[in-house]
Amino acid sequence: MKKILLVEDNEMNRDMLSRRLTRGGFQVLIAEDGLRGWEMAATAETAIDLILLDMSLPGIDGWEVARRIKAGPDTSGIPVIALTAHAMAGDREKAIAAGCDDYDTKPVDMPRLLEKIDKLTRSKEVQP
Ligand code: MN
Repeated sequence: MKKILLVEDNEMNRDMLSRRLTRGGFQVLIAEDGLRGWEMAATAETAIDLILLDMSLPGIDGWEVARRIKAGPDTSGIPVIALTAHAMAGDREKAIAAGCDDYDTKPVDMPRLLEKIDKLTRSKEVQP
């Protein structure tokens, strides 16, 4: 079963996303803020297949979490999908510049998000 780390401070979004991802057949790990998200990603025994990262987080924001993940030798290979609340011009470019592999906006269109998750976790499998 694929493991997704969901980093989201908003309780409603967190509950909704984790419920839908669980229903979609994923194991969901939850972090309620950026620091905890980074710590969980960096913990080697928690082999994570993908990170769903809210960008607006208390403490360390999503941009910084993404930069840390992509700078860490043990975490740089984990695909990251950035989530932002508004489709702000330039957000996608900013997310990619921070090292994110893809980007989506909230409210989440679940079929579209699942497709992105599938694409990123599948491309990982074909690598040696
Ligand atoms: Mn947030």
